Amino acid sequence: MTVEKSKRILESDGTAVLSKRIKTEDSSLIEETIITPSIKQEPDSIPDTKKHLKVEIEEKRPNIFAKVTSTDVELIPPTCKAPTKWSEIYNELVVMRSKFLSPVDTMGCERIPEGISPNVSKTNPRVFRFQLLISLMLSSQTKDEVNFQAMRSLHSGLIARGHKDGLSLESIVTLSESEIDAFILKVGFHRKKAVYIKRACAILQDNFDNDIPKTINDIVTLPGVGPKMGFLLLQRGWNINDGIGVDVHIHRLAQMWGWVPKSDKPELTRAELERWLPKKFWSDINPLLVGFGQVICVPKASNCDICTLGIKKLCKGANKKLVNAPITDARREKLLKGRGNLTELITEIEDLV
Ligand code: SF4
Repeated sequence: MTVEKSKRILESDGTAVLSKRIKTEDSSLIEETIITPSIKQEPDSIPDTKKHLKVEIEEKRPNIFAKVTSTDVELIPPTCKAPTKWSEIYNELVVMRSKFLSPVDTMGCERIPEGISPNVSKTNPRVFRFQLLISLMLSSQTKDEVNFQAMRSLHSGLIARGHKDGLSLESIVTLSESEIDAFILKVGFHRKKAVYIKRACAILQDNFDNDIPKTINDIVTLPGVGPKMGFLLLQRGWNINDGIGVDVHIHRLAQMWGWVPKSDKPELTRAELERWLPKKFWSDINPLLVGFGQVICVPKASNCDICTLGIKKLCKGANKKLVNAPITDARREKLLKGRGNLTELITEIEDLV
């Protein structure tokens, strides 16, 4: 049997409905519907998101990230002192990530512009870059799902006011701070972010010819925009690979695997990673690890029993009891209620152990 077409619909109560059209071996078509509770709030996100949360996401293949080759490893100068087994860990992540989609894959900042205005990256790259900036500015302390909704609300609200491009620099400057705030109410620190957006727009108009600047030093002059957002903005908006966007997941995981020293400073983690990680992986490492941290190695609730890093003894932080525990029906049911569809990964893990 082959899946001809599938579509996931996230309902307002957090339920995910995955509808698949399946072609059987005798070429007839059957419909299959899988219903799983899928959306959960992270503890630090803003409450009251249940009111209206309906997102339609075309099901797509999970991300395929490039693996590290032996040549990549050999090209790292010995003076860089790359951590042992980093490439084995990285490649296990690539394999695991190819088997499930995380919120970052469909509703992460870099996906949002195309999600709210399809093809904008090709038809209007300047508007694409601006939408990317706003989605990054809204993303701190906010789940991807909530950010996606806020961006879509802002975009459609501006279209309803007669702005054909929806969310753009030219349209958002027509809104007051309180009007912006009303559109983004569900994201963390929305009032402060509305103020930052107004000020950032004025800076873009006054100093950067109505576009996103092309250097990290210029980008971080925008209020509320730090290096993490800045490097992601450069990579996705301008295709400039000048640094790694280190978020909380990367900061946490890199320390746990011994890739960087323990610290409470994401900037230190960034500098350390950039010291030894080949530049060709600087862009991929963010969605690779963020998606892994959202679904498998979840903070305070790591799913070590379905993680090949635990099973292959590559992770220092593995919960050994959980790694060795069988996946019972109850456990499987719990895993399937997470933020990603783990069916394929669980099946592979069961075959492996
Ligand atoms: S702590 Fe567990 S889930 Fe996280 S990377 Fe290690 S083995 Fe995997």
